[in-house]
Amino acid sequence: MTEVDPLPLAGLTTLRTGAAPARMQEAHTRDELVTALRGIWADADEWFVLGGGSNLFVGDDVFDGTVVRVLTRGIERLPGERPGTVRVRVEAGHDWDALVAYTVEQGLAGIEAMSGIPGTVGAAPVQNIGAYGQDIAETLVEVELIDERTGEVSAVAATELALGFRTSVLKRHYGSVPERSAVILSVTLELADVGHGELPVRGEQLRQALGLEPGASVSLSWVRDHVLATRRRKGMVLDEADADTASAGSFFQNAIVSEQFARTLPPECPRWPMQPVIEPVRIIPLDRFDGYVPPPAVQSVPVKVSAAWLIEHAGIGKGYHLPRSRAAVSTKHALALTNRGGATADELAELARFIQQRVQQEFGLILQPEPVLIGVEL
Ligand SMILES: Cc1cc2nc3c(=O)[nH]c(=O)nc-3n(C[C@H](O)[C@H](O)[C@H](O)COP(=O)(O)OP(=O)(O)OC[C@H]3O[C@@H](n4cnc5c(N)ncnc54)[C@H](O)[C@@H]3O)c2cc1C
Repeated sequence: MTEVDPLPLAGLTTLRTGAAPARMQEAHTRDELVTALRGIWADADEWFVLGGGSNLFVGDDVFDGTVVRVLTRGIERLPGERPGTVRVRVEAGHDWDALVAYTVEQGLAGIEAMSGIPGTVGAAPVQNIGAYGQDIAETLVEVELIDERTGEVSAVAATELALGFRTSVLKRHYGSVPERSAVILSVTLELADVGHGELPVRGEQLRQALGLEPGASVSLSWVRDHVLATRRRKGMVLDEADADTASAGSFFQNAIVSEQFARTLPPECPRWPMQPVIEPVRIIPLDRFDGYVPPPAVQSVPVKVSAAWLIEHAGIGKGYHLPRSRAAVSTKHALALTNRGGATADELAELARFIQQRVQQEFGLILQPEPVLIGVEL
């Protein structure tokens, strides 16, 4: 455990807001991380862990607690449990995109469409990161984590994390606490050992984004290079030279609404029906079976609607900013709020609230923020 002089969070988060917290620790090894967390929990101090700071929106007031920087590194290659697969066990502080580059180099498929997502491997399951139709839930086997309640380290199967659309039991959604307060120490993925040849590209969303015809075959490194170029055009990779990347990626989540509500939105608004929720198998004991098998009850199918479309059609175009504000909508992507240089968290929050109000007035729904908010109210 290394207690360090606290650094301003504006220098450690991609939205570039936040003062230096009261206390800061750096954990370079797993033991340091475990010791730091157990110490903080024993003292009942306020705390949060910081990876790459790319999904955090931190307020202007000093955070009166301890920020723990997760700086652990390392990839271990292990045999897969199924034929044709390989496992990688990766320390939480490892850079996500460096992991993707490694897997592509090794000819391992499963996360290449998520090239260029900023941040650390340990934060990736927290909101089940994803891009172009691929998410970490598809390859995540387990995480090793330490629970705040018990202080114990355990291996937890991916199925126990309730990974959903940009969510898991570990995520602190705006206005609530995580269902399970825990810190990930390492992540294990199972990837397909496909080598360096050309393969058909799975997934309509990825094919469309990369301009590929159905049935087109390309290599993993081709996918990675083209995903990176596509993301760069949208300001969705970190780049000091591009002011549009001083963001937290998508600031608002695509809204998930009922089928009935979706029908009230203009038909041009892009929407994607989600999986229907079907009742689990119902067992009817033989002595009570009267020959009638009830049909499975299908609840209404939730629909995901494009937040970017709602924002633009509420009159807020790319590059929009309030008068004299240094916070603006990205010039390349209507969902990203950006810090154009020296913007305070208050300025960014003011813009976020304005967008929420405009969308609510036009379409009757309140967009929810995707990043984790600390010391900021919307
Ligand atoms: C330009 C840009 C593009 C982006 N594009 C995408 C995208 O395409 N898809 C996508 O899903 N996201 C995207 N994001 C969001 C972000 O990159 C991801 O959410 C990423 O996983 C955050 O990692 P981080 O290490 O920066 O997390 P941080 O911002 O440091 O932390 C985020 C949250 O996770 C917690 N946390 C961090 N590490 C751990 C750990 N080891 N254990 C438990 N909790 C932890 C933190 O306390 C905090 O609550 C983008 C962001 C930016 C800036």
